[in-house]
Amino acid sequence: MIVILKQGITPVEKDKVKSFLQEKGFIVKEIVGQQDTVLGAVGTVQMDIRTVELLPGVSSVVPISKPYKLASREMKKEDTIVSVGKVRIGGNRVVVMAGPCAVESYDQIMTIAEAVRESGAVILRGGAFKPRTSPYSFQGLGEEGLKLLRKAGDAFDMPITTEVVSPRDVEMMAGYIDMFQIGARNMQNFELLKEVGKTGMPVLLKRGLSATIEEWLMAAEYLMASGTDQVVLCERGIRTYEKATRNTLDCSAIPVVQKLSHLPVIGDPSHATGIRDMVAPMSLALIASGASGVIVEVHNCPECALSDGPQSLYPSQFDKLVRDIQALCPVVGKSLEKVPRNIGVKRSEGKTEIEAQPDLTVAFQGVRGAFSELAVRRSFDEDVSLLPCHTFASAFDAVSSGKAKYAVVPIENTLGGTIYDTLDLLAIHPEITVVGETLIRVVHNLITMPDAQMSDIRKVYSHPQGLAQCRKFLSEELPDAEIVPFFDTAGAVEYVAKTGDKSIAAIAGEPAATFYGMKILRENIETDASNFTRFYVIAREENAAIYRSEARISKAIVSFSVADEPGSLIEALSVFKDNGINMIKLESRPIPGKPWEYLMFVECQLSDADKFPEIIGKMKEKTVSCRVLGTYASAR
Ligand code: PEP
Ligand code: MN
Repeated sequence: MIVILKQGITPVEKDKVKSFLQEKGFIVKEIVGQQDTVLGAVGTVQMDIRTVELLPGVSSVVPISKPYKLASREMKKEDTIVSVGKVRIGGNRVVVMAGPCAVESYDQIMTIAEAVRESGAVILRGGAFKPRTSPYSFQGLGEEGLKLLRKAGDAFDMPITTEVVSPRDVEMMAGYIDMFQIGARNMQNFELLKEVGKTGMPVLLKRGLSATIEEWLMAAEYLMASGTDQVVLCERGIRTYEKATRNTLDCSAIPVVQKLSHLPVIGDPSHATGIRDMVAPMSLALIASGASGVIVEVHNCPECALSDGPQSLYPSQFDKLVRDIQALCPVVGKSLEKVPRNIGVKRSEGKTEIEAQPDLTVAFQGVRGAFSELAVRRSFDEDVSLLPCHTFASAFDAVSSGKAKYAVVPIENTLGGTIYDTLDLLAIHPEITVVGETLIRVVHNLITMPDAQMSDIRKVYSHPQGLAQCRKFLSEELPDAEIVPFFDTAGAVEYVAKTGDKSIAAIAGEPAATFYGMKILRENIETDASNFTRFYVIAREENAAIYRSEARISKAIVSFSVADEPGSLIEALSVFKDNGINMIKLESRPIPGKPWEYLMFVECQLSDADKFPEIIGKMKEKTVSCRVLGTYASAR
């Protein structure tokens, strides 16, 4: 049952409710949600829920209708985020795990680990105990394999996951690894599940060869009832009559599971298909289906692999796959987790962990629910404090004064073009630098009071860009409605909510509807679905290194001005050309106080970030002024 507590419950009352349930024989878990705090009580005890409902501090009690309780969405509305070392899985992240089917040797695992990390994998996989169909096939290196996997994980800064096949290995393995993997063949090995659950460590739970979704969630329930709440589900293909692939990948399981459970779910396209060429398309299908990541087999020499060579990708294929996944992520409202978001990485004895950054405040322009808030969520962890600012200038000031450590500001929209405010503010804030970028897909919705219908709408409020981007919808579906420009998309939703008037609507993103408790009357109403906004993460110089610490720097933005004489601009830009630097974007802006003089802004790609300062040195010789406004990892 779920015991929903009253907002004003005292700690003493809460403890009393907990002990009451525990004494009756329930396992009790407290879940603090965005709206409510609830106690989940599970066990074999039968009890009249009215007895609990009458306890002081209890608001209501809801029985859980599903056979799985702790794993159910009924128990916990918010997505669970599972932490594996410094990597977090779930929410709007996409996590790529990769490595060989089995650890074969020191050289093999080191070579593969280096390659997959370089391409963007953040968790290393590799079997040490292999449950093979034939007793005569390679069974894995055992504990020696775990040692090698740990070495490779430490060398390339990746948490590691590997399969456990026997309850008696659990304790020994816990000393080496960051996440247990329960294989498909062992999904219903209940003794194994209980032993692994007891460790409290993260577990990757593969779906059984012919398990229903309910059986799979019941296996997760075993793990959770035994003591871990860190479970990641993994769809890896099921047995069907089809012989063309090793198994049949059940992509539809992803959205089904997400509806039924709060646990993150990823996919394994390698074991699902058994065929190398099918791995990339099925990985993309998994991400498109909403998976929180993929686990992919990669081998430096698949022909010589001791197991699963035919389904292992070559490192170059894996590299392309990660790029494709990264490109797909914003379309489904996610971002690829290439490096941990919450900056503040602590290293000790080889293991790397996220160091919580207490009171990390991030500023953005707009009100709560704005697209910029979404961009903050994509760049930082869920628990950062938000500082909504009225203007771009005040977001910059917040960073400058130290009120916020970072700000996330838009730089460009694929339909509307450059956001010049951001460039102009970067130019006048020498203490601020660009440390990262994030890409958001802009999806507009018609948002109204909960009881409004299309026939009620007389006026539509939104930011001029929002209105312009939905012109087709407005003219076709609301031709008689008055169109009212507003300072902000989410601000328009806030305004409609305040008036309580069902004849007015706002155009904004989904987070604004959720935040203000409003209804999405029509979704995806933008004329062009390819509508993306790119944001910069900015910081004061002294906070820049910590954000960049794990990032693979691949882009830079530079501002410069040149003498007013023939060829001066081309001379300056030639420095980029002569040093093999690819320019991505060129802008010019008037310099305040110097009529008819311009500051140029260049965004460029860096193939070798270490050489960039030297190139900028040469640039300085050809320009009047030149400043690097920031270097960062590309979001594309
Ligand atoms: C594996 O991941 O190596 C493996 C054996 O997977 P599964 O249990 O899904 O077959
Ligand atoms: Mn395998």
